Amino acid sequence: MAGDKLDFLTGVLARQRDAFTAARPEGLSVRKDRIKRAIALLKDHADPLCQAMSADFGNRSPHQSLLTDIAGTVGAGKYCLKNIERWTRTERRKVQFPLGLLGARAEVRYEPKGVVGILSPWNFPVNLAFGPLMQVLAAGNRAMIKPSEFTERTSELMAELTPNYFAEEEVAVITGGPDVAAAFSSLPFDHLVFTGSTATGRRVMEAAARNLVPVTLELGGKSPVIMGREADFAKAGERIALGKMLNAGQICLAPDYLIVPEDKEAEAIAGLSNGASAMYPTLLDNEDYASIVSDRHFERLQGLVADARDRGAEVIEVNPAGEDFGSANVRKMPLTILRGVDDDMKVMQEEIFGPVLPVKTYRAVDEAIDYVNAHDRPLGLYYFGTDRAEQERVLTRTISGGVTTNDVVFHVSMEDLPFGGVGPAGMGSYHGIEGFREFSHARSTYHQPKIDVAGLGGFKPPYGAATVRAAKTMMGK
Ligand code: NAD
Repeated sequence: MAGDKLDFLTGVLARQRDAFTAARPEGLSVRKDRIKRAIALLKDHADPLCQAMSADFGNRSPHQSLLTDIAGTVGAGKYCLKNIERWTRTERRKVQFPLGLLGARAEVRYEPKGVVGILSPWNFPVNLAFGPLMQVLAAGNRAMIKPSEFTERTSELMAELTPNYFAEEEVAVITGGPDVAAAFSSLPFDHLVFTGSTATGRRVMEAAARNLVPVTLELGGKSPVIMGREADFAKAGERIALGKMLNAGQICLAPDYLIVPEDKEAEAIAGLSNGASAMYPTLLDNEDYASIVSDRHFERLQGLVADARDRGAEVIEVNPAGEDFGSANVRKMPLTILRGVDDDMKVMQEEIFGPVLPVKTYRAVDEAIDYVNAHDRPLGLYYFGTDRAEQERVLTRTISGGVTTNDVVFHVSMEDLPFGGVGPAGMGSYHGIEGFREFSHARSTYHQPKIDVAGLGGFKPPYGAATVRAAKTMMGK
């Protein structure tokens, strides 16, 4: 990367940090005003942003973008405005007896960290850049955003619009490819939020470690759906198809594979197929159904299906209108269900991130639990069924970033729930009070009374009998 781009990045960071330091302490009204400006940017330019996303994907429904990227992100901002007073309140903490009686006080102050870097992916290009931004601003920080190069038009538009709403020292959007991203992740931020793949997340964390920059990593993984014997397979199929086909499966939380009771496999596949066909009776010219973002991503997905087929999987394409995908040049792919998969197939080894859905079977639900536990901890886990005991068994014997029962993906839309991964699916979280705290420094503050606490407590040399008495009291003897 050209040295002048790195100099530019370093310069923006320095200017933001200087402005941050000079302006402290900033009242809550300043933070609220920044959140309101971020909301205004999204609302004022909803249409061009949605158009840019459609153009970047080749096809992506502007209605979908309005819902997922504009309204969803405005909602996150409004949630911050509603809760900011409560979140920022200083918390009184206990002091050990008898310090309280002597006038000592302890408290935790939630203070801004400084300048937070935000590296975001292409799949929800506005939401995953401006969503974290809302809580970064709520916590009183400044922000530099590097959105994805795969959604170039959207990223350029965000970079163009931001200076109309924010001074560069408040929020700056910097565009560029992987070289700029790599340089960005090596900057000595006060915190870095990365949303993207596990492989890139590892590189980002390595780069951040050199400066001991704390990171929030929102990564991906293979989120399983475990279907109980008592599940309503028709309803479940529809909900899974909706979650899997939204954004053509290019969602970090998309159901990656299903595990169903052996004797219910046909019912489960019929439920999926009917659900998909009802929502998307046609696909190629259907604006509601998104394209795969790039040729490279499209070929990877085709490769996963071909590899599974070569290794013996049955491939079921849900193509209700019998359209000819082979000669269409639109990077669209029907929901492709794979039966008879095993772990030798690539599709069971990597996150799918597209409309391909392998179905595995189990005889006893513990086999499904054991399968999940034998693999990387997933970002999401889904259980369908009405058997509460079975549901609890699944939840208490597995580990995942989050869970939705009797549906998929939904937990991320609950603003009050922290959203994040565990293990290879990521670390840290945002949304909820946890997100505010993630971007804040919990500063312990202790106020000593006038009285000579150290002298009274035997902590002051010369040590002697009072010291021994104090130690014994502390040990409870
Ligand atoms: P990606 O890892 O390829 O790219 C994400 C960002 O990283 C981009 O801005 C890119 O410019 C940047 N980048 C590329 N190379 C880099 C490097 N060497 N150093 C630093 N940054 C670099 O991810 P993607 O393909 O854009 O997104 C898909 C992945 O993101 C999937 O794995 C998905 O599960 C995950 N994801 C996770 C969440 C979540 O909230 N957990 C949300 C959406 C997507």
